[in-house]
Amino acid sequence: MARGEFTEDPVRVAARLDAADPLAELADRFVVPDDRLYMDGNSLGPASDAALASLERVVDEWRDLLIGGWTDADPPWFDVGERLGTALAPLVGARPEEVVVGNSITVNIHTLVGTFLDALLAGDGPSRAGHPAADGTWDTAVDPAVVVNELDFPSDHYAIRAQLRQRGIDPEAKLRVVESRDGRTIDPRDVEATLEAHDDVGIVFMPTALYRSGQLFDVDRIATAAHAAGAYAGFDAAHSVGAVPHAFDDAGVDFAMWCTYKYLNAGPGAVGALFVAERHHGRTPALAGWWGHEKATQFEMNAQFTPAGTAGAWQIGTPPLLAAAPLEGAVEILREAGIDRLRTKSLALTDFLIALVDDRLSEVSIGTPRDHDARGGHVALEHPDARRLSEALTDRGVVVDFRPPNVVRVCPAAPYTGFADVLEVVDRIEAILETGAHEAYAASGGGVT
Ligand SMILES: *Cc1c(COP(=O)(O)O)cnc(C)c1O
Repeated sequence: MARGEFTEDPVRVAARLDAADPLAELADRFVVPDDRLYMDGNSLGPASDAALASLERVVDEWRDLLIGGWTDADPPWFDVGERLGTALAPLVGARPEEVVVGNSITVNIHTLVGTFLDALLAGDGPSRAGHPAADGTWDTAVDPAVVVNELDFPSDHYAIRAQLRQRGIDPEAKLRVVESRDGRTIDPRDVEATLEAHDDVGIVFMPTALYRSGQLFDVDRIATAAHAAGAYAGFDAAHSVGAVPHAFDDAGVDFAMWCTYKYLNAGPGAVGALFVAERHHGRTPALAGWWGHEKATQFEMNAQFTPAGTAGAWQIGTPPLLAAAPLEGAVEILREAGIDRLRTKSLALTDFLIALVDDRLSEVSIGTPRDHDARGGHVALEHPDARRLSEALTDRGVVVDFRPPNVVRVCPAAPYTGFADVLEVVDRIEAILETGAHEAYAASGGGVT
């Protein structure tokens, strides 16, 4: 919608959209402060009644059952990783055995990228029905390269570089970084061109959505290009799981990982999650540990590691029960709402936000793709004074975050945000920019990254 194209009073538009919202009642189940507009659920989702209840249950079990909780809690703690993996699997279009909860994103990047580098170094390439170009072998004389992109979350590159180095592979030579044309997004054609230009790519590792601009990638397209080039396809799905439905099995994704504290609302530092396609089960994890051992014989305490025959093999140590418990309740709410309905509402919320910004904030530009297929769950508002603008907003009760150099991320998360909230956010940004209130903040320093 272009400037001035609102033919109806936005207050009435918001009221109409809120009245027609089938998920409006869900907000009552979240603990979002009345005096603040929480637009940062892509960084840390809020608590909910269900998440607090499942956490409290485990706290009670610890107090009452002590060590007996591993077997006698209801449900037993012993299989918490598999159980929560099963709960998450529908959100990513996976079979239950393909998803497990454990570790953190960064640790899961280490173990999964390491595992697939090991596979390549042992001569094993991707093979997948329907992808004739990938013949299932890798020339062991060639050190595999990993394709990433310039706009990735930095931790991902740190971990991949470390995994390359540990195998004697020089990251300067073999981490291939696809560049952005506009500083905001990655053109999938540039990923494909990188694959065409080099014949040593063993893994294509991409985000499902970029953390700064919120660009959503076509997972199917990237996985198909990777396989056609004889490379595995891995995804960091931190910025989409819980907000955008995925079909990892249908797309032929080899592996993926994500966190549960962003759109999955499981709490600060909550346990990570990972996906390994069934055809890779039985591979030896790069970071093996006893919690990934075959379940039936784990407590025989054999010196020899026998990996579980599921994605559970990529667990490492004892699962952090208190950092996993809230996920059970949190996922249940999303399941009740339905990921497709959540996505529909999320797109309507970000459409409304973008239309209001276009209409009223001439100094602000939209850094997120407008095409629904390329938009995740948040909107990047670009402003030359973004850091001061985000500080002024936070002080006025709008919780957003700043990402250098010029982005204010606004996340109207579908489970607990209404259209009137979005309008209020834009009203407050407009008031700040009109009065220059943000200019009262220090010109540099500060700013959370
Ligand atoms: C949030 C996020 C991380 C954080 O990793 P942790 O190990 O959970 O701290 C990593 N990668 C991406 C893309 C993220 O968005």
